[in-house]
Amino acid sequence: MTALAGVLLLAACGGGAQKGAQAPAAPFVSAADVRPASYAGSTPRFKALLYYSDRVEEAHQQFSHQAVEFFHRLTYGEGWIMDVSQDLLAQGDLSQYDIIIMPDAAPSSARDRKAFEEYMDNGGGWLGFHAASYNDRSTGWDWFRNFLGGVSFLCNNWPPQPGLVEVEGHDHPVTRNLPDEFVVPETEFYQWQPDPRSNPDVQVLVSLSQKNFPMGLKDIVFGGDFPVVWTNRNYRMAYINMGHGDRCFSDATQNLLFVNALRWVVSQSPKGDPFER
Ligand code: ZN
Repeated sequence: MTALAGVLLLAACGGGAQKGAQAPAAPFVSAADVRPASYAGSTPRFKALLYYSDRVEEAHQQFSHQAVEFFHRLTYGEGWIMDVSQDLLAQGDLSQYDIIIMPDAAPSSARDRKAFEEYMDNGGGWLGFHAASYNDRSTGWDWFRNFLGGVSFLCNNWPPQPGLVEVEGHDHPVTRNLPDEFVVPETEFYQWQPDPRSNPDVQVLVSLSQKNFPMGLKDIVFGGDFPVVWTNRNYRMAYINMGHGDRCFSDATQNLLFVNALRWVVSQSPKGDPFER
């Protein structure tokens, strides 16, 4: 739609001006607000790496493969570039990337962990899903635990199932256009210790509703706090707990959350917001 067409449409939607009526002191929508989309032309706005692993449980492989397809579709038109690899350093220096997307896998070798630490400590961006954040005593990576907000895995419901989640405020770009509550498709919900919410640097954006409890058929969760989307303000990162199995991309609201999170992390780039260009 052209800017002119947009103005005409708005006039019609507003009911039209009455003959002789005074023009409003200020228009509801300025011409600048109905400008057409801006195009990057042939220059991609940003560059991402999607790092995943097939050396994980089957349900996490399923999510990872679907994540590759989901995010690849978002690159249509080459608005941005996404490399996909099971080798974190396949393309060399991570600083070339504006964001690293990790569905269900995190670096495990000393080489990869060091590279990821340096990348994030120098303003890198991260969007992690589900088991990408799994860590316990055997993980042996204190930096990563602190990066997540100082938390480790505590427990989960089983089997995976849908869950009602609550959005904790709409003043954040990740949640601004989401409903107060929605049901996310079948997944495995993790609980963390200590509660990420107890860390003042963590902002919880979405959590599992208490209305779900008791939850589970084999492993029963009776209650407690289950933040499912959060960010650690010390880093340019967002974590999303959903990401188990092959149903996760079947819900438009959750897909919107995924896009919002990607866009928000990228928009915080120390190089400037690529969506403002
Ligand atoms: Zn899982």
